[in-house]
Formats: sequence, C-alpha cells, structure tokens
Amino acid sequence: MFTLQMNPTVAEGYKSNSQVARRITEGWATESLYCISCKSERVIPTPNNSAAIDFYCGICSAAYQLKASKRWDERRVPDAGYEAMVRALHSDSVPNLLLMQYTDDWAVKNLLVVPSFFFSISAVERRPPLGPNARRAGWIGCNIILSKIADEGKIRLVSDGNAVAAESVRADYDRIRPIARLDVKTRGWTLDVLRIVHKIGTREFDLTTAYKGENELASIYPANKNIRPKIRQQLQVLRDLGFIAFLGNGRYRLL
Ligand SMILES: [Zn+2]
Repeated sequence: MFTLQMNPTVAEGYKSNSQVARRITEGWATESLYCISCKSERVIPTPNNSAAIDFYCGICSAAYQLKASKRWDERRVPDAGYEAMVRALHSDSVPNLLLMQYTDDWAVKNLLVVPSFFFSISAVERRPPLGPNARRAGWIGCNIILSKIADEGKIRLVSDGNAVAAESVRADYDRIRPIARLDVKTRGWTLDVLRIVHKIGTREFDLTTAYKGENELASIYPANKNIRPKIRQQLQVLRDLGFIAFLGNGRYRLL
C-alpha cells in the first residue's frame, strides 16, 4: 500500500544520522514504492553496494536510485562521481532518480522521479575536487541541476504531502517514454531544445524566439557550429514525439 508514513523502528540499532535516514527511507520504498514504468506494485532493493542502483523492478527491470533528504532543494542535487555519471550518460545506463523530501516525523512530503532517459550532460554539474584532507582527496563529484531538466521529466509521486494517483504518474511517464527510443548520442539535443522551448514561457512561440536559446546551446555543444539548423531539426523530432505541434508559418505550440 502507498502510505506516506515511514516506519522509524526499522532503524533501531543504527547510530549515525545518515545511516538511520537511509535505513528508514529505503525501508519505506521497499514496502510502498511502485514501478512507474510498468504495473508492478513494488520495487526490490538491490544487494548492498550495487553501483548507483538502490531498487529495481522485478518485472520490467527498471532501475531506481533514491536520494532522500529533510531539506528540499529543487535546484541542485548532489550525486555520484562526475566521471562515472558522464560514462553512465554516454552508455545510457543512468537509473531513474527518485528525490524524496521527508518531514521531521518521518513522513514523505515530496517525491519526484526523473526518468533515466531525461538526463542530459547539461544537467550534470562538475563539483570541485575534494580537498587534500578529505578521506577521498581529489575525488570529483557531480550535482544534478534540476532546472536544466524539462518539466516533463520531473514526475511527482507525492506533492506537498499529497500522493498523486499511480495511474496518473504512469500516464505521465508513458507520455515521455518515446524519448527513451532516441539515440543516446543525440538525445541531449532533444532534451535541451525541449527545455529551452519551455523557458520561453508561453505555449505558442515562433522560430525567432526559439533561436534565443542559441547561445546557451552553443555553450553546451561548443563543437557544433550550426546551432540554428539543429534547433529546427530538434523541433521536428519533438513534433514527431508529440511534444509540440507545428502551426505553420514558423509558429509552434507546446502540447
Ligand atoms: Zn516495472
């Protein structure tokens, strides 16, 4: 059953705050979390130390990573090692990222999932290397910048203490699932153009407005000298995937 109250007794005997939090939030997910990518009512915890994957679906094998915190920063989420993340992106093996905020009395307050195929390199920020006195001196981590992920890729399961119906969550996921079929080498372009189109702020827009994202795209893809044709190409890809409609005369609408 999808209850929002977690069970703190599963952490009895654990000392450090981070271990307690991990034990309780993972205990909750094991009991309550469902798969967004199929009809499975549960996900299975992976054995300890599985690289970046905390849960998987026994039916469709979707992989999940859970990051839980009492603080809620929708802007920036610390994640794994930078190099490992970039490798995972290029090999299309990033797990679905679950971000949870919980309350002081261990209830799920917010929970959103970024589907694995919605990450692009522009959403991964390289952190400064750890200092010489750190246990892992020189190690370079990364942050996920959630503002660099288009809204469609941030699906809410719990919003401010209210659970969203699972059917609605799965419908949101199904709608964006076609993105997963795009070649991982060019998918980042599609995601970045989608995000830039959202940034315009109106549902209807024209090509000139879409071109305003040119500088930002040039900074993400410095090797590409043909940004405008690329924007037009990606608008077509987004049309074919059902994200935008072509209205004619260089006008478009976000669907
Ligand atoms: Zn599944």
